[in-house]
Amino acid sequence: MSDESTHDLEQSNEQLKRLVELSITLNSTLEPDDLLQLIISTAADLLDCEAASILLYDEKQPRLYFAAATGSDPTKLAEVPVPIEGSLAGIIFRTKRSMVLNDAEQDPRHYSLVSEHLQFRVKTLLGIPMLIKDRVMGVIEAVNKRDGIFTERDETLLTVISSHAAIAINNAHLLATTKQALKNVKEADQLKSNFLALASHELRTPLGIIIGYASFLREDAKGETSEHAQHVLNAALQMRSLVEDMTNLTMLETEGQMIIKYQKVAIQDILKSAYDEIRQLAAAKAQRIIFAFDEEPIMVHLDPDKTSSAFVNLLNNAIRFSPEGGAITVGATQQGERVMAWVKDHGIGISSDKLPKIFDAFYQVESINTRHYRGMGIGLTISKGLIEAQGGKIWAESEGEDQGSIFKVVFSKT
Ligand code: ADP
Repeated sequence: MSDESTHDLEQSNEQLKRLVELSITLNSTLEPDDLLQLIISTAADLLDCEAASILLYDEKQPRLYFAAATGSDPTKLAEVPVPIEGSLAGIIFRTKRSMVLNDAEQDPRHYSLVSEHLQFRVKTLLGIPMLIKDRVMGVIEAVNKRDGIFTERDETLLTVISSHAAIAINNAHLLATTKQALKNVKEADQLKSNFLALASHELRTPLGIIIGYASFLREDAKGETSEHAQHVLNAALQMRSLVEDMTNLTMLETEGQMIIKYQKVAIQDILKSAYDEIRQLAAAKAQRIIFAFDEEPIMVHLDPDKTSSAFVNLLNNAIRFSPEGGAITVGATQQGERVMAWVKDHGIGISSDKLPKIFDAFYQVESINTRHYRGMGIGLTISKGLIEAQGGKIWAESEGEDQGSIFKVVFSKT
């Protein structure tokens, strides 16, 4: 093999190595400025030219702008206008075709304004469109080959670099957009939490007054007026329970706000106290509550109030989502070092695709437009938060629509 072809082969090998390195680094870098710098310095090195630059498309203006260039101040560069009509980069961008100019100053298409701005004489130029599928994102240019003219091999090399660059820049752009969207969602979520905290706090005082005076009125008044006062009282108590739910939810969302007061208690006592809170609701729908546990106390180490609140929500749901006259079972059993408690109903059931979602805040299986079960979609979120804050687990099981549901809760005994 002649010296020349050995040299050629070595050069090709070296170029291939650099391309592979570039591709690996591009895949592991998502910082847009680092990406651009790496691309143009590799391009200038591999093509052995004085400068390389990346021009990206700004659709708002619309125009091209220098996103990066070797040896130039990036902020100054960004100010240099590169019109779509009347610049070499613009032609490459519009035609989506590469361009080789080995005598740029003599070429009628040469547009010197950009070079003047940069105080840079363009003698030879190779430009490649940066394409993602059919969409052109910008142009990559190599300027002034040091030794001779730009060849077909240079064009192939820059085309490979350009397609890698287009993918990497597009990924970085997608990541930035996703990050921004996530930030917006977080901000909106924070606003929602602030609103809930404020609303639940501000509603508490007037509600307390309504409940207080409605109770007085019910006691003092006679006949129909006392009955009316009872209606006002019932409605206000219902509203207070909604406000309490809102307060509990904001408390769960603010880490460290929940104080757990552990006690040694019988799980049966917790379930019975939860039942006491909802017995009237069950009676109003002629539903029977069946206790399925032994009288022998199953002792657990839990916060009785918080656990009871969690079960009140489960029972409340069992009542609301079951027909009149049905039966609801509340059970508990010891399983080695663990205790399982459950609430089982024979109501509307939950289809398997909805089961994982029902514990999400504000999620309701029923569409908001057709719903007739009311509620805010936060009861289960609160129950889950209260149970998990004590190291427990909660989940739902159902054979599907109209097959009833069972909500299971597991705690370790200690
Ligand atoms: P809410 O009951 O106020 O809508 P929850 O967080 O308590 O909010 O429940 C979320 C959703 O889960 C309910 O809207 C309902 O679609 C479904 N769900 C909860 N409990 C049951 C149940 N026992 N049977 C059928 N569906 C239920």
